[in-house]
Amino acid sequence: MKITILGATGSVPVEGSDHLEFGGATSCVLVETNDQAIYLDAGSGIVRTPDVGDRNISILLSHPHLDHILGMPFFPYISKKNRKIDFFACKTGGLTSRQQLDPLFSVPLWPITVDDFAANFTCNDVTGPFDIGNVHVTFIDSVHPGGGTVFKLSCEGRSLVYATDYEYDEGRIGELLEFAGNCDLLFFDAQYTDEEFEARKGFGHSTVRHGINVMRESGAKNLRFVHHDPRHSDEFLRKMESEVKSDNVRFARRDEVIIL
Ligand SMILES: [Zn+2]
Ligand SMILES: [Zn+2]
Repeated sequence: MKITILGATGSVPVEGSDHLEFGGATSCVLVETNDQAIYLDAGSGIVRTPDVGDRNISILLSHPHLDHILGMPFFPYISKKNRKIDFFACKTGGLTSRQQLDPLFSVPLWPITVDDFAANFTCNDVTGPFDIGNVHVTFIDSVHPGGGTVFKLSCEGRSLVYATDYEYDEGRIGELLEFAGNCDLLFFDAQYTDEEFEARKGFGHSTVRHGINVMRESGAKNLRFVHHDPRHSDEFLRKMESEVKSDNVRFARRDEVIIL
């Protein structure tokens, strides 16, 4: 699997000279195999997708908060005729996959609906493990206001777990530790410092310390922190990162490519 980080900022896109290294686009990770292009979330990062050739396109949505679907209207392949796009989401907040997109794609927020996309766009309600080509997809619930999904993608003996918008909770973390067990790459939400977390419990996000715990306890081999707080500058994120003493643990940077 070839993994490209297209957006790692949380909550709202940011720009400017303070956000050049980690990037200011919101959540989107592209996973490519020989014949598949799978996007994890459709935040503003998806707008800058590289050319994926003739690979089959899928989008997996962790949850429909705005920062995770914000890029969808300008996803280049949405407006390409003869292009098939499969959209997958678990039922979240009682809403089907289609119902999670409809509010954004309706007047007055946007002038066209999902039915108006030029691409052949299919909404799929996820209810159990499924396959996208030779990529096996499993999932558990996230710990986040309104709900959400943590996905695991497995292909040819390698696996990645995408746990964004996840609040570390002693009572529920066991499920994630088991789910992420020995994965090759873990994406984990580290939006807050320890101090910020204390002030924002219940907001649905975690810290570096939580991420390190999950990595250690689950046996995940590599860790990338995602959902950077939009108020944290490059310098601040570098400082948070410098306190982690492991080459396998980094804050996700825009355009970083990881091969599994
Ligand atoms: Zn988010
Ligand atoms: Zn969220």
